[in-house]
Amino acid sequence: MNTLDVLAVGRLVKEDGIILEAHSTSTLIRSGNVNIVVDTSSTEMLPAIKTSFRQVGVLPKDVSIVVLTHTHHDHCGNNDLFKKAKFYVHTEECPEGRNYVPVSEDVEIAPGVRLVYTPGHTEGSMSVFVDSERNYAITGDAIPLEDNYRRGVPPGINYDPGLAMKSIKYITEYADVMIPGHGFPFMGDKRR
Ligand SMILES: [Zn+2]
Repeated sequence: MNTLDVLAVGRLVKEDGIILEAHSTSTLIRSGNVNIVVDTSSTEMLPAIKTSFRQVGVLPKDVSIVVLTHTHHDHCGNNDLFKKAKFYVHTEECPEGRNYVPVSEDVEIAPGVRLVYTPGHTEGSMSVFVDSERNYAITGDAIPLEDNYRRGVPPGINYDPGLAMKSIKYITEYADVMIPGHGFPFMGDKRR
């Protein structure tokens, strides 16, 4: 059974619709012996992330895979914490470097843990679908806030709003629970 722990709950601080601060959610997936982190958040969240690792009894050095849902700085600020990890990033925005694994198509990286292409916020945005006692989707900024899901509106920052809405729909068809790029996890309205 795959387990998920939110290491840090991301937030967006806005004033008059302008983003003043952005810190992404960071999530740990444990799949058998494989520890996977999705997004590393911003440097301000490092103390919270370290505390969470201690609480769940996992060391950052035991994380072998980091998935970056996309490469905005508020999702990759603590990459240095994961010295032994391979970084999975979509080919549209994958940096050069031997630690990076470009992802060109949807792929299962551990049993029941899939990287799924969900573009719209950026050209290379991915989500992570995790089969567990429920279906979890770690969405990055494909769904930055629960509000985007509830109101059915694309991320405020996007390169293609139509594609972004398609991605939201695709995610909600799979997921019972969504872990958004910023904010607390929430249940979707899907009936099974
Ligand atoms: Zn972003």
